[in-house]
Amino acid sequence: MLNKKSQERKIFIDFDVTLLNTRLFKNAYFKEFEKFGISGKDAKEAYEVMKKIIGKDNPYFHAAYLGKRYPKVDTKRLKAALINFRKQSKNYVFKDVQTFLKYLIINKWRVELLSIGYRSAQNKKVQGSGLTKFFHKVHVVDSDNKSDHLKKILKKPDDHFVFIDDNIYLVDDVKKNFPKSTVIQIIRYSHQLKSDKVDHVVGNMNQAKHILEKI
Ligand SMILES: [Mg+2]
Repeated sequence: MLNKKSQERKIFIDFDVTLLNTRLFKNAYFKEFEKFGISGKDAKEAYEVMKKIIGKDNPYFHAAYLGKRYPKVDTKRLKAALINFRKQSKNYVFKDVQTFLKYLIINKWRVELLSIGYRSAQNKKVQGSGLTKFFHKVHVVDSDNKSDHLKKILKKPDDHFVFIDDNIYLVDDVKKNFPKSTVIQIIRYSHQLKSDKVDHVVGNMNQAKHILEKI
């Protein structure tokens, strides 16, 4: 007989672009730098450079990098402002998210957030979303893929999980490593690359809900 735990349906959900309108969030974020006399354009350029160098968004790196170009800027205050901005991420959550997460909880899904990022800053952004009450667990990993972390936390009978993410490389990688999983790619912006390897590609959370109803 299966124990209760192994019967539990488990879903891993991504944060940026999947739940958060990261494009809107970033536009407002780059404006934040203007309060410190740094143009939004320079802030954005420095952001792109940082992504190339360290592969992720680290506000400490970002502020220090801009500090070299703008020596008059109080980088300590800037860092604090950048961390603080993440606490307002609630304003940028996609409109269909709350309904979807409520649906999951009502239908007894085990909901785990799985996000890649610079841990301390990303945790602030996740907390600021006001969505943590819907998650049984939050994983923020400092990695370039999600399969490695899933391999660490999952036991064999658990490999029938559902995985939702916007990123083509991450969804393809999870499907490759966990062929029994149900992988859903969500397309939030028209320029996103669509996977032809995953189980489903959806345009919003309501479509994702229809898929889960059949699982
Ligand atoms: Mg994402």
